[in-house]
Amino acid sequence: MGGPVDDVETEEITATEAFAILGNETRMEILRALWQSDEPSSFAELRSDVAPDDKGNFNYHLGKLTDHFVKKTDDGYDLRFAGEQIVRAVLTGTITSAPSVRPAETDERCAYCDAPVEMGYTKDVISVRCTDCGGVIGGDFPDGTYMHYQFPPSGLADRTPEAAIDAAHVLYDSKIAPMMKGICPECASGIDISYDICDDHQVGDSKICPNCDSRYEVWALYECEHCRYRRKSVMWFAALNHPAVVSFYYDHGLDEKIPIRKLTSDNAQFVRDVTGTVTDTDPFRFRVTIPIEDDTLVVSMDEELDVLSARRTSDSR
Ligand SMILES: [Zn+2]
Ligand SMILES: [Zn+2]
Ligand SMILES: [Zn+2]
Repeated sequence: MGGPVDDVETEEITATEAFAILGNETRMEILRALWQSDEPSSFAELRSDVAPDDKGNFNYHLGKLTDHFVKKTDDGYDLRFAGEQIVRAVLTGTITSAPSVRPAETDERCAYCDAPVEMGYTKDVISVRCTDCGGVIGGDFPDGTYMHYQFPPSGLADRTPEAAIDAAHVLYDSKIAPMMKGICPECASGIDISYDICDDHQVGDSKICPNCDSRYEVWALYECEHCRYRRKSVMWFAALNHPAVVSFYYDHGLDEKIPIRKLTSDNAQFVRDVTGTVTDTDPFRFRVTIPIEDDTLVVSMDEELDVLSARRTSDSR
């Protein structure tokens, strides 16, 4: 194993310079043409794609894009990572322009109580709430909320509400999984974990604690130290992919891996009653309890949410 990568050369441009470079239609067309091409493009190919009639200026605009957004290789011109990110951001944001979906009942059922759930979408955020129980979070959120996070507008295109909810679950998993391993899914830098802990957690019939406005006592906050990308998740989600937990579920008849957050009526019995609590604060230690039928798996985790031990107990009352 090596140490830090120490030969990294950085040439930074300021944000103002970057936007000045990109604020031009011909240059955006060049990025888009390179993005559409599977292989690097020669100067002549690119020019005939983008600006067949405009020889002098084309060269000038292409020069502005190299080297920060476009690279020149032996095979021709190609996008650099930053150029690719720009095109992708433009595409994901505008395939459907700022759509908004009024909350409406769907065929999806609540994992906690099996009542129908409502889905709505506004300002790039997808929200799902149960029409009957308290869901996962209360407070400022509508009653019964259990999903509320950023989802690109392109994710709504050509999908039913149920399929959009499903896609949002999968997308959430794909972002939070690397964060649980300490890697930012957006920029690959390191992740800081901090915790939101309710000191007096009490869930009554609504299952939402009045002190923390949440069903769960401990939430993990993952934040990238570099690009500030952040996500919040229930602390015990980090335990679900551990082999001891997967095999516990397998032994109780769940033959596929539980997606981290995908609580559906099908797998609800396996995750509905999971609890997570704090056993020590310096350093942090957590205990996650997973009851299924007469068995319970007790998992202890450290401050990085790595599993320290997992122990099965049987309740033969
Ligand atoms: Zn419900
Ligand atoms: Zn609480
Ligand atoms: Zn990042």
